[in-house]
Amino acid sequence: MELISNENSTVLEQSENSSSSQIIKIFKEQESNLQSIKNSTARDRRKKLKLLKSKIFEYREAIQNALFADFKKPAIETDVSEIYPSIAELKHTLNHFEDWMLDEEVDTPITLLGSSAYIRYEAKGNCLLITPWNYPFYLAISPIIYAVAAGNAVILKPSEFTPNTAKILKKLLAEVFSEKEVAVIEGDHHVSTELLKLPFHHIHFTGSPKVGKIVMEAASKNLSTCTLELGGKSPTIVDETANMKEAANKIVWGKFLNEGQTCIAPDYILVHESKMAALVAAMKVEIENKYGSNMSSRMQGGNLCRMVNSRHFSRVQDLVEDAKSQGAIVEYGGDFNEADNYIDPTILSSVPKHSNILQEEIFGPVMPMISYKSIDEALQIINGKERPLALYIFSKKEKNIEYIMQNTSAGGTCINDTLLHITQPNLPFGGINNSGIGKSHGKWGFIDFSNERSVHRQHFRFSMSMLLQPPYNKFSKFVIDMTMKYF
Ligand code: NAD
Repeated sequence: MELISNENSTVLEQSENSSSSQIIKIFKEQESNLQSIKNSTARDRRKKLKLLKSKIFEYREAIQNALFADFKKPAIETDVSEIYPSIAELKHTLNHFEDWMLDEEVDTPITLLGSSAYIRYEAKGNCLLITPWNYPFYLAISPIIYAVAAGNAVILKPSEFTPNTAKILKKLLAEVFSEKEVAVIEGDHHVSTELLKLPFHHIHFTGSPKVGKIVMEAASKNLSTCTLELGGKSPTIVDETANMKEAANKIVWGKFLNEGQTCIAPDYILVHESKMAALVAAMKVEIENKYGSNMSSRMQGGNLCRMVNSRHFSRVQDLVEDAKSQGAIVEYGGDFNEADNYIDPTILSSVPKHSNILQEEIFGPVMPMISYKSIDEALQIINGKERPLALYIFSKKEKNIEYIMQNTSAGGTCINDTLLHITQPNLPFGGINNSGIGKSHGKWGFIDFSNERSVHRQHFRFSMSMLLQPPYNKFSKFVIDMTMKYF
């Protein structure tokens, strides 16, 4: 498969953008096929998911090459953060989705004596997935797994900024699904806009809060349900009891993986003032151990990918320049190679609170550090911003951990680690308000693409409601009085 230059993607995508009539044709074909997908058995769905798994293994090298062409992502990092999570979620789903599909009985209160009730998980129907460029393979495959397990038809619109991965996704998925089941429509935001006009039953969007608002507004026109997996500024607190070497190891890995372009990357650090110097020193050691001792060895080392394009390169460079101009100190890195969209791992201290880098999601390999005197000072900074997608705590003191948990809110939290909560299949994944609406992964992923249909079944001719129907009289009053008092 011929690889294409990422920087040319916009021009290329515009010439290839699917026309509105093509989009409508695919949507209608899926619509007419909905009932048959909805009625597919667990066996049918298992067959599809198993084929998807084997195709991912078959395409492993092609996926690595596509990610490398898109933003020089190292092959092993593609395995670790794109292919392995996709396979892991597929395995977990294959092991459990037949249980998830079962009707779920619920308890019956005495006021509904004689009946039973259950929840039926039925497919939502036509689903639209709009996905970002930062983990362009995994973030497209993951919702497809759950949408298919729950019996839906899917149109995927991958990001235009990673065109090679979009092409591989299209090719691979076409070998598993017909277009009536899962279709890939490539293109930029014009294509998203056309898609968002259609009456999808469900929209699953992964991307920025800014575009999330556009998606939600469009969804409201058709009252489509909507899951928004968004981003924002995820704080990391390192208190005075934390082990600095351990914290540095885990923070450096979580921050510089994917060159900082991770939705749950630690965005900024709040560290107790007594540990600032020790943490900076430990992070420098970790950066050099992991990536090399100078910029040239880090660029050549094959362990760091690049910023996805020149626009994002300049955006992050501007954030650093703005912080420096306001007095931030570059503790490490701070160098840029424009020709290669490369930003060296960078640590900043003394960053003014109102500088842009402490207001916007960084989404790049730059770590601003703020020192605090009391934990309340740190919490005030966190709670002065939008609720984050992730919040990380490094501490050995149970009281501090619980105090931080009690006095903040976040989509997810790792205590004494970073990122790994996303890999725990028995936890829901998602944000809260500005960082996201709705949850994904594992059973929550299946529920995300299912309508939880409530079923109340009466087993007798008599129904409790008969005791309370008009004409109202003394007996009705007695029944309702007793019911309110005792049941
Ligand atoms: P983005 O919001 O710019 O784009 C995401 C998708 O939306 C792309 O497919 C794009 O083509 C489309 N899009 C762009 N403008 C649009 C418009 N006006 N109307 C409709 N669709 C439009 O996000 P991005 O730059 O690709 O990704 C980075 C953001 O995504 C960060 O904020 C990051 O935190 C977030 N993110 C969140 C998660 C998560 O799971 N919560 C995962 C990855 C990334």
